[in-house]
Amino acid sequence: MIGTSYAVKLQRLGIDTVKDLVFHTPSRFLDFSKISSIQNLQIGEFYTIKGVIISTINQYSKRGVKMQLVNIKDDTGNINAIWFNQPYILATLKKGAEFYLAGKVEFFGRNKAFISPEYELIKFSTSGIHTGRLVPIYPETAGITSKWLRSRINAVLKLLDENDDYLPQKIKTMFGLQDLYLSVKQAHFPISIKQQKIAVKRLGFDEMFMLQLVNQKKKLVHKNKKSHPMNINNKSITKFYNSLPFQLTTSQIAAIGDILSDLKMPSPMHRLLQGDVGSGKTVVAATAALVTRENNLKSIFMAPTQLLANQHFNTLKSTFKNYQITVALLTSSDKVGDINFADIVVGTHALIFKQRFKNVGLLTIDEQHRFGVSQRNKLIKLAKQNRRYPHILNMTATPIPRTAAMTYYGDLDLSTLNELPAGRKKITTWIIPETKRKNAYDWILDKINNDQAQVYIVCPLIEESDKESMAQIKAAKVEFDKLVKYFGRSVRLKLLHGKLKSKEKDSILKSFKAGKTDILVTTPVIEVGIDVPKATIMLIEASERFGLAQLHQLRGRVGRSETKSYCLLFTSNDSENNLRLRALTKTNSGFELAELDLKLRGPGEIYGVAQHGFPKLKNANWSDIKLVQNALKGAEMVFKSESIKEELYSHYLFSQPA
Ligand code: ADP
Ligand code: MG
Repeated sequence: MIGTSYAVKLQRLGIDTVKDLVFHTPSRFLDFSKISSIQNLQIGEFYTIKGVIISTINQYSKRGVKMQLVNIKDDTGNINAIWFNQPYILATLKKGAEFYLAGKVEFFGRNKAFISPEYELIKFSTSGIHTGRLVPIYPETAGITSKWLRSRINAVLKLLDENDDYLPQKIKTMFGLQDLYLSVKQAHFPISIKQQKIAVKRLGFDEMFMLQLVNQKKKLVHKNKKSHPMNINNKSITKFYNSLPFQLTTSQIAAIGDILSDLKMPSPMHRLLQGDVGSGKTVVAATAALVTRENNLKSIFMAPTQLLANQHFNTLKSTFKNYQITVALLTSSDKVGDINFADIVVGTHALIFKQRFKNVGLLTIDEQHRFGVSQRNKLIKLAKQNRRYPHILNMTATPIPRTAAMTYYGDLDLSTLNELPAGRKKITTWIIPETKRKNAYDWILDKINNDQAQVYIVCPLIEESDKESMAQIKAAKVEFDKLVKYFGRSVRLKLLHGKLKSKEKDSILKSFKAGKTDILVTTPVIEVGIDVPKATIMLIEASERFGLAQLHQLRGRVGRSETKSYCLLFTSNDSENNLRLRALTKTNSGFELAELDLKLRGPGEIYGVAQHGFPKLKNANWSDIKLVQNALKGAEMVFKSESIKEELYSHYLFSQPA
């Protein structure tokens, strides 16, 4: 129905189907509903007028810009409408034709005029869509104007069947939702904003409802799979707790409780463990691995980077040093131990290239959002044996608001670590403008010399990507050289980036861990999971380029011991008032930041969502917990009742291409 060049442009707006097009609702409206005679027009107000064109001229303005002047009259007077550099419109706006004009009345020279107003030929439109009403303005992209979208959507609306509504009546009644066709129509062409809100509520429900339907379907699939039901030996768990150098937090114990009851089940666990940076997720996963071992099954632990895999390998080895549990490591550059015989295999996505694992009871995926769906599925397939699936524990340190977790991870059960281990000190965060750079360096030098402080300096983010580009590494090298020159011999600096050989990386981190390096200059790879408790100062260059979730992750590299930690957010002077940076100075809690971010951004965007790779919502609002709950309830109803399910599936989801 739409030409390919437009189709490509529409895809940039996330529009592939007719449904996407009609769900692409306006971001705002221009109020052209006031209809006036020419005589009564007031400067500075918005109006629609109706008149006949009496003359048109194409001429140059004093500054040499091409200008289209159209004079239009009604029974009470006449007025000029002026456009710039749009000679083609005179092909439409012809002398003698009857038109609606809509726009703001302004002075042009000494006379009242409409500058670049909307226009609509009266002959073609009984009720206007560009004039004489609340006129929708859309999120746009190059080559697609609001006017174009308005006309297309209006045309599509005429083709849709007014009675085609896939949402079962019972669900509509239960949640007070308006019919689909009416909602689509009034979302674009309402007579009042109030009416439009009611319409968008229905469309927002649909958006959430579809996501929840998918969740319910996945849940059903999970439930019908077979896994390895495990026995839990409580005595042994207590013994393990007592072997730890610290006392577990209440939420760690609760999360372990959730996991253990999943492991007992005949169908596989699908759980997401959410916990802020430093909340201690690793030991929770280790407890599950212990139980798995006691059931004579193997655990696989996948992490997104080599650094992190190495670190987990070392942590698990030391956690189980008094146990007969063997740990092996597999990354693209390291192989430690025999992975065929190990009880716990730690690795990066290099694990995926293995042929097959035997007797896998547990799969733990750290920072799970860093892996693609296909990577995760591949690993699950490798670990599956005789139609039995492993239990799956997903972990993430990027907390997202509850509404988003319920929606995007609605097929998973959720456990949350909502506290940090006792004794951690609050990290003090400062925004440092460029003019204070030298003072900050002096302060750091003083901290190194007098308090043996260890420092991370994170280089500016060049491009938003999880992978390091060559440009990113080059920038880090430049920064490193600058810093070496600045601090001189007395300070020990090292540079860490992703393209180093794994042995080099290891030795750099070891030296930093051992206190033999004062400043670790790094690319933003450091973001994920690195644990060096003695490091207490984090300096982030060009911090305004990072997202809030990323900054919080980076900051989480410090504040991991009982020594006071600091985070210095360097920024260009004009971003000192950046609200995101300000938010970081106010709280240390990822969950609070997630909720704060919800308020800072538009309702469709949300903290951490980009990190997790979720699509944006168009009509639903994340802060609307009621909506999310209702959509979930509705989706559950579908799977509980055959008749509702049939009613839903019998409908045509108007999903043909736009
Ligand atoms: P994350 O949730 O970010 O993965 P880690 O598992 O790396 O956190 O734990 C961060 C640090 O806190 C580690 O050094 C770990 O040994 C320590 N830790 C974990 N749980 C506790 C606890 N209950 N009390 C004190 N320290 C803990
Ligand atoms: Mg971790």
